[in-house]
Amino acid sequence: MTDALIELDSVAKRFSRKAGLAEKIASRLGARIDRRVVHALDGVDLSIAKGEVVGLVGESGCGKSTLGRIVAGILPQTSGSVKFRGRETASLSGVEARAAKVAVQMVFQDPFASLNPRKRVREIVGEAPLYHGVVGRAELDDYIDDVLLRVGFDPAYRRRYPHQFSGGQRQRIGIARALAVKPEFLVCDEAVAALDVSIQAQVLNLFMKLREEFDLTYLFISHDLGVVEHISDRTVIMYLGRVVESAPTDELFREPNHPYTRALLAEMPRISVGRRRFEPIKGEIPSPMAPPSGCHFHPRCPFATERCRRERPALKEIAPGRLSACHLNDENH
Ligand code: SF4
Repeated sequence: MTDALIELDSVAKRFSRKAGLAEKIASRLGARIDRRVVHALDGVDLSIAKGEVVGLVGESGCGKSTLGRIVAGILPQTSGSVKFRGRETASLSGVEARAAKVAVQMVFQDPFASLNPRKRVREIVGEAPLYHGVVGRAELDDYIDDVLLRVGFDPAYRRRYPHQFSGGQRQRIGIARALAVKPEFLVCDEAVAALDVSIQAQVLNLFMKLREEFDLTYLFISHDLGVVEHISDRTVIMYLGRVVESAPTDELFREPNHPYTRALLAEMPRISVGRRRFEPIKGEIPSPMAPPSGCHFHPRCPFATERCRRERPALKEIAPGRLSACHLNDENH
């Protein structure tokens, strides 16, 4: 692997759950309220090399969006370190901190919610590059046109508002906004999930074209294994706040190691119809407010042993470039 652009080391994120109205009243009346904590991320290690496209997969509520926001610098971690080009982002200040923030941009699932409905396309795309000094006011219009053309959006419509466009066109505006500050790294959080299948393919192809053109690195977050298989060099699987497997995409889909990955693949229509080799996952994902002891997957794992209930399995190298967190990989499990 080449030099890491982004490195996460033991990153944890906890959110305190806000008390509901009933709890607030009960508390005022003197009842003891349990302020429970959501363990969104629990000791995540992840390294992404320059130029890599990493797909991050997991069920809803597994912490993948939280991880994306921490990587993009939108959310601070509770503990652990995040490095950009080998430097702790928390220790950067002034110009360096701003440069690191600009270098990592995010593309969201719902472009309608993430685009200001009162602003025209030219303001949405042009505001940040002007603010960060990427372009001067005199060249701004030409610059906006160029960015819009590169994402396949007709600059003739730049005076229109987001609601005047389809979902696919709005997503192109969102991508243009991210690209306009010349980032090195894009975090795409379910960036095609809200689009029709035919439009999804167009937007995925656009991401790949932009990768070449701008030498971009991607963290591509998705619940859709088909999308991740199509776009990623490496796939990372998360379960309840932890990374459980990471491998080159073709190897992971051909020969998954972790029982959770195998169960996820069993639920992929392409595999389950023709050659079902694995059992699909049983039961619901447990609450991140009360994650199971030991291996978080043990209540749903058909291979769980007493050790799995007690001891957290470490994320270990099982083959060159392949990591998995399962006690079954130990010789004497
Ligand atoms: Fe299953 Fe145990 Fe492996 Fe966890 S560590 S995935 S419970 S076998």
